This record gives sequence, structure tokens and C-alpha cells, in this order.
Amino acid sequence: MNKVLYCRRQYYAIYMPEHHRAHKDGYVYEHVLIAEYKLQRPLKAQEVVHHLDGNKLNNSPENIVVLKNKADHALLHKLIDANRFYQLLEDDDGTVVIIYDKPTCIKCGNPLSGYRAHYCQECARKMQRKVLRPSRDVLKIDIRTTPFTTLAAKYHVSDKAIRKWCKYYHLPYKRSEIQQLSDIQWNAL
Ligand SMILES: [Zn+2]
Ligand SMILES: [Zn+2]
Repeated sequence: MNKVLYCRRQYYAIYMPEHHRAHKDGYVYEHVLIAEYKLQRPLKAQEVVHHLDGNKLNNSPENIVVLKNKADHALLHKLIDANRFYQLLEDDDGTVVIIYDKPTCIKCGNPLSGYRAHYCQECARKMQRKVLRPSRDVLKIDIRTTPFTTLAAKYHVSDKAIRKWCKYYHLPYKRSEIQQLSDIQWNAL
């Protein structure tokens, strides 16, 4: 048989112009033929073939599964990309069904819309706030040497937030107050 490697899409293809999934040039993807051999029936129009190990050239039957439609196939790839746990169960018609947990925030348990994130937006924001607040020593140097507006830009917060941090650390938060202190007074803070 005439087996070619499709250069554009990196799949093996075989010349079978009569096949219902033949492309314009008469070639059919080899994984389509393997899938049909496994199912012992022609693929339905909406069914999608997937390579389990991600290697598009590995067309051994145990590496090939058939998903019911494009949406399922897209979902499977999302789960794989996001390193989510999933299982594939074989359905009566030989296609596979994806079993997976709806993603939830690992902190509060609320449902997530995407598959890549591990925290909901609210938890992510809270944690970011924690990460963003510099230590007292760092902030102390910062406010002595740098205008609040510049610091606000540096830490991606408002200058009001900078003042809040100062209050939190019991540091002066008024420009005039900061400037009138001598170095000795400042170091003693
Ligand atoms: Zn796939
Ligand atoms: Zn959360």
C-alpha cells in the first residue's frame, strides 16, 4: 500500500480515493483506517480520532481512540494540557466517554470556568495581595527613597494601598513625616 507521511499535518496517509474520509488528493489518514478497523464500522461524520500518547505517528490500535465529536476532543486536550485527571470509558458504540471532575478552586472549592487555573479569581486575588506586600524592611527603604506613586506602579497597587501597608507595619505614611525624620530617627523605626 502507498503509505505517505503528510508533510503539512504530520500524519501518515494512504491512497484510497473511494474512502468516505478521503481528502481531495485521494489520501486517507491511516489513523482513521485503524479506528474503523477497531470499531469494525465506518466512522460517523462527527467522530474524531485521537492518539492516546500524543504521538500522531503512533497508529498502533491500542494508541487510537474515537471520541464522539469535536467538543469532546477539545475537552480531552484541555484536560491533558492542564494536567487534569481524567478517565476514558468505552461506550457501547466503541467510542470513548471522558470521565473527569469539574475543576474547582483548590482553596475554597468553588467551580472554575477554565482548566488551567487552580484558584478562583477571588482566592487568586487574595493570595496575590499577600505575595505583593513587601516585607517591612523593604517597604521602609522604599518609602524613604521613592515617591508613593512610583512605588504604586512598581507593586501594581494604588498609592492608597502603599499607605495601608505603612500603617500595617507602623511606618509613617505621610510624605512630610517621612522627610522630616533624621536618618537616626528613621533607623530607629
Ligand atoms: Zn487528540
Ligand atoms: Zn477560591
